[in-house]
Amino acid sequence: MSLLVAKFGGTSLATSERVINVASRLVAYHEQGWDVVAVVSAMGKSTDDLLRLAKSVNQRPPARELDMLLATGEQVSMSILAMAIEALGVGAVSMTGAQVGIVTTNIHNKAKISEIKAERVFRALEQHKIVIVAGFQGVTREGDITTLGRGGSDTTAVALAAGLDAEVCEIYTDVDGVYTADPRLVPRARKLDEISYDEMLELAASGAGVLQMRSVEFARNHGVVIHCRSAFTNSTGTLVKEANTMEQAIVSGIAFDQSEAKVTLRNVPDHVGLAAEIFGNIAKAHINIDMIVQNISEHGYTDISFTSPINELERLRPVLDEAIKRLGVREYLVDESIAKVSLVGAGMKTNPGVAAKMFKVLAKNGVNIGMISTSAIRVSVVIEGEKTELAAQSLHTAFGLDSSDVFQETQLSGEELAAKAAKGR
Ligand code: ADP
Ligand code: ASP
Ligand code: MG
Repeated sequence: MSLLVAKFGGTSLATSERVINVASRLVAYHEQGWDVVAVVSAMGKSTDDLLRLAKSVNQRPPARELDMLLATGEQVSMSILAMAIEALGVGAVSMTGAQVGIVTTNIHNKAKISEIKAERVFRALEQHKIVIVAGFQGVTREGDITTLGRGGSDTTAVALAAGLDAEVCEIYTDVDGVYTADPRLVPRARKLDEISYDEMLELAASGAGVLQMRSVEFARNHGVVIHCRSAFTNSTGTLVKEANTMEQAIVSGIAFDQSEAKVTLRNVPDHVGLAAEIFGNIAKAHINIDMIVQNISEHGYTDISFTSPINELERLRPVLDEAIKRLGVREYLVDESIAKVSLVGAGMKTNPGVAAKMFKVLAKNGVNIGMISTSAIRVSVVIEGEKTELAAQSLHTAFGLDSSDVFQETQLSGEELAAKAAKGR
């Protein structure tokens, strides 16, 4: 029988009506003869609530305990969804990451999946049950619960689709698919019918939160085609797949990221091996950094700037304090009010001048550029955070991406949702 993996995000499961909507959709698939495995995120914004709860008792919650807490969010939604499916007369069973056998590395809060066992999933499918898997979580070989980083349920879904050899991997969310930019900031953004793995990877890495970057990486490495679509309508969404090399847009999308800070190390002694040592220590602490820029040396000293997630600064500071104490760096400055704006497009490889046009558009709109970095299919700049909307919208227009329609949130009542889902596809 054909197997389908469908993932539902927090907004799609935020209320009991929405849970029933998801249940009806899954039952409709089941009735069409699919083997159905659903992956769920925590309901609504409950992961944020749990994070706040942790911080209310400890500003730097121990990573292992944080995982124990955060994993409970998905345990609520998986069991509620299983109950809603049973209420529709179809057998369902929910499973935690550990019960499925999603084995991960032991880096708490951003663990990577190393193996999926899934015998229990197959056994439940043989009994014609719909299987609901808690997204975002796994278990170490020692038996400790881990989580996969924010947005990690996407990765659970793609990894399961690969591991179970699913025919279809659907990621249901609160917008119609992948757009040329986040439609909440750029209302004239256009939904894309398809996008290549490489472009989606660059967009996700540059802040387009619609899919977690790791999930796209997984999909590319295992050839899983992702169908990203709305949980509230039956319309076709966006296929994330191998590139269509015939039609490569110069710019396919624009992403922005306001979750990073710019860190500048002042007066770094210009010795061989010093950068290796500082960045080696940052890597050892599992802190992500990006956009490293080193200035011209003067009198044997140089300045080095880079960007790093704001929520990792707490862990970064002790590493930099050590660099001041032990390696002779004079000081470091942190600017949290920046944003990174990126243009992504496979056609950039063969069309020079994209960066120049981008800088010109930003200059015309009075947006100052602080840092620049590029890859073969991406140009990113750091700008003042408060100019993000202006920058994203003016670039979207200048690169011809504007749609004639303006984005509107899909807002359906609970009954409308249930009726729509019951009608099926
Ligand atoms: P879920 O809870 O379903 O995982 P997310 O909030 O993680 O949902 O992702 C969906 C959101 O991603 C959208 O509501 C939208 O605001 C945002 N987003 C950012 N960039 C894009 C983009 N390029 N296309 C579509 N949505 C985007
Ligand atoms: N609930 C987790 C989060 O909010 C995982 C997910 O939604 O994918 O990040
Ligand atoms: Mg998400």
